[in-house]
Amino acid sequence: MGILERGAATSYFVHVRTGEARRRTVRASWLLLPLVVVSVGLISMAALVAANEPAANTTLVVAAVGVVSIVAVVVTWLEARHFGRRLRTTIDELSVTQSDLRQLLDDLPDAVIGLDERGKISSANGKAAALTGRSVDDLIGRGFLSMIGEADRKSVSERWQRVDLGNRVPAVHAGVRSPGDLAVFELVDVNGEPHLVEASLHVSQSDHGNVVLLRDVSDRKRTTAALEQARRRFQQAFHSAPTGMALVRLDDGRIVDANQPLAQMLGRPLDDMLGQPIRTMTHPEDLASAARQRAQLELGIADSYALEQRYLRADGEYVWARTRVSVTEDEGVALAITHIEDITEQRRNAELLTHAATHDDLTDLPNRTTLVGRLDALLAVAQPGQVAVLFIDLDNFKMVNDSLGHGVGDQLLREVARRFRGVMRDSDRLARFGGDEFVVFVERVAIGGEDTPSGAFVDPAAVADRLRRSVMEPITIDGHELVVTASIGFAVNAATDLTADDLLRDADAAMYRAKAAGRDRVEAFTAATRKASVGALQLASELRRAIERHEIVPYFQPIVDLSSGEVVSFEVLARWLHPDRGLLMPAEFLPAVEAGGLLVDFGAMMLRDSLAQLARWRAAGTRFRRCGLSVNVATQQLADSNFIDVVQTALGETGIDADSLWLEITETTLMEDSVAAGSALRELRGLGLHIAVDDFGTGYSSLTYLKRFPVETIKIDRSFVSGLGLEADDTSIVEAVVRLGHSLGLSVVAEGVETPLQLTRLRELQCDNGQGYLFGRPRPAALVEYERV
Ligand code: C2E
Ligand code: CA
Ligand code: CA
Repeated sequence: MGILERGAATSYFVHVRTGEARRRTVRASWLLLPLVVVSVGLISMAALVAANEPAANTTLVVAAVGVVSIVAVVVTWLEARHFGRRLRTTIDELSVTQSDLRQLLDDLPDAVIGLDERGKISSANGKAAALTGRSVDDLIGRGFLSMIGEADRKSVSERWQRVDLGNRVPAVHAGVRSPGDLAVFELVDVNGEPHLVEASLHVSQSDHGNVVLLRDVSDRKRTTAALEQARRRFQQAFHSAPTGMALVRLDDGRIVDANQPLAQMLGRPLDDMLGQPIRTMTHPEDLASAARQRAQLELGIADSYALEQRYLRADGEYVWARTRVSVTEDEGVALAITHIEDITEQRRNAELLTHAATHDDLTDLPNRTTLVGRLDALLAVAQPGQVAVLFIDLDNFKMVNDSLGHGVGDQLLREVARRFRGVMRDSDRLARFGGDEFVVFVERVAIGGEDTPSGAFVDPAAVADRLRRSVMEPITIDGHELVVTASIGFAVNAATDLTADDLLRDADAAMYRAKAAGRDRVEAFTAATRKASVGALQLASELRRAIERHEIVPYFQPIVDLSSGEVVSFEVLARWLHPDRGLLMPAEFLPAVEAGGLLVDFGAMMLRDSLAQLARWRAAGTRFRRCGLSVNVATQQLADSNFIDVVQTALGETGIDADSLWLEITETTLMEDSVAAGSALRELRGLGLHIAVDDFGTGYSSLTYLKRFPVETIKIDRSFVSGLGLEADDTSIVEAVVRLGHSLGLSVVAEGVETPLQLTRLRELQCDNGQGYLFGRPRPAALVEYERV
């Protein structure tokens, strides 16, 4: 009920309290009619009587008139009663309607105020009373404008005046209103509290005043303000967010709004993005998953989602972004609020970390863990006989590393890895296991299969040989030309239940056979290989017993002064007098002694036993009185902190003077840990004994390097001496070593002198001492005593 009929409202407000009085007035007016009729009858009768005066007739006429009058009075009275009753009913009905109307007005959501032509309140409903805090009686007669807040009063007044005038024209419907004029202003209640109201003025065409409908909109205003503020805040958050944001229509995927960080991230002007389907900026591979997620939003299955996807930059590059999408609605349009956070860097870091964890950082090859994982996965599904594992170990790498430094060693490993990769079909199957060990696994293996890049089946031996040959070509690093060789062992998955570890162990065992067989070769794992490694284990426990029982004994080989031909010393060389297998050479048992961790005990035994032998010779007054002993010392012995005590004790127990003892340390031992070796040697030298460098020339050390150690003698390796006088290279090396050695104050021993020619050449070169079969083989002590030197 937007527009109220002014007449009805006014009559109700004005007369509602005078209804009873009015009813009484109506009843009185209806009694007036019969009284008038009776009076007229009586007056006519009296006039007739006065004019004619016939006495007899007069009585009759009077009677008749009287009767007529009475009848008239009765009829009139009856009629009046009837009307009176109808009137009462009507009035009652009217009262009911009025109270209904009052109820209705009070039930209205709006306050209704009637104004007279002077703008004073002539009527008001309950809501108006509640709104203003005043009673209806208090309101009546009050000037409406006076209740309007001061700030709004003037403008409302002016405005309503205009409306009032403008509308006071002949109405379409008689006596009825304007369509109402809306105004919002503050209405002050009885306590002085302002209420924001929305008011509509309804102007009557008559001059009887107007009706104002008022609605308290403080709450609505507050809500709208809050909404507006929320919208503003969203806008602000959206545009000042540090991450990329876009508002995307769910129905067609078009970008409705986007912020500057997103524009920057994608390298596109903001305006170009608006209206574009976000699909055109999404990586093709990520479209499907994004669409699937958005569909869930549209269907209401989910109200948000997050995923990592790539967006296309204007320059054609892709950025990885974490995208979080939630739905909102704006004026009936479902929108996806899309947060787009650039995680390209993060992902790159994560990838780098993963790569670092799974790869060897020197060669960038997969590491051991990665390879074992891949191999296990492959073995789980592979048929027996189809997978081969190749174990590669570089020969003499340690020497390069120790003599030329880790920098060169690292470069060498990188180059070797590069070469291996170059001859692999799939370099993912190549891994560095640490140090100079590499492992390769090969699928679709067939012994004797073709070794071509397209070969359906490959022969693991052929692959291994290809790898071996790939490193043979000399490698030049920092001006050093290095020749590297590789020993390779391989094993094939002979059964279904083999694990990566099993195959690696077998390939490793085969690789050791390749080393033992002379290095730079390929060996396949066979049942015999396993037997040999089992045999090696048994050997270790046998060895322990052998050392305890002195089954391993010193043999003695003379070292001769080349100018005088006198024996100056004996080198002590170990032999195992095995109860079942007969005489065993160091090469047959020393690796097991080392592997069994028995080198220190074994070395101590050799030292004691040989010194004890020398002491016996001296005591017996043989011609070896003035001879010294050369005892080989392994790296582990030298590294052992007790070694000096062992030496001292052995010397003390046997009574041999330290000056008679030479310790032979290999060139490689010196280089393995030069600092520790240096200090250990200085301590030993402090006892008064002598140090010789063994196998000189097989490592990469120089004579000048040797000067760091308290070394007095160098022993030129047999391999150089054997070509002496025959091979120009060998001759010049020996010559250079002798000359340089002498210039540094070192004495030189030539090992492996077998022929008179070699002896002649060595004498010409003025080499100090010689050792070799020419002078005598290593012999047991008992035989040495009879040796004719
Ligand atoms: P090495 O210290 O270089 O010993 C010299 C080797 O050359 C000995 O081999 C010796 O028998 C051999 N030899 C000597 N003259 C000739 C010759 O004219 N022609 C040929 N072809 N060979 C000759 P052996 O006894 O088999 O010892 C091998 C290696 O085992 C030794 O090489 C040494 O490194 C090691 N070794 C032997 N005994 C011991 C020991 O008691 N302790 C340690 N730590 N190592 C030992
Ligand atoms: Ca030696
Ligand atoms: Ca030697």
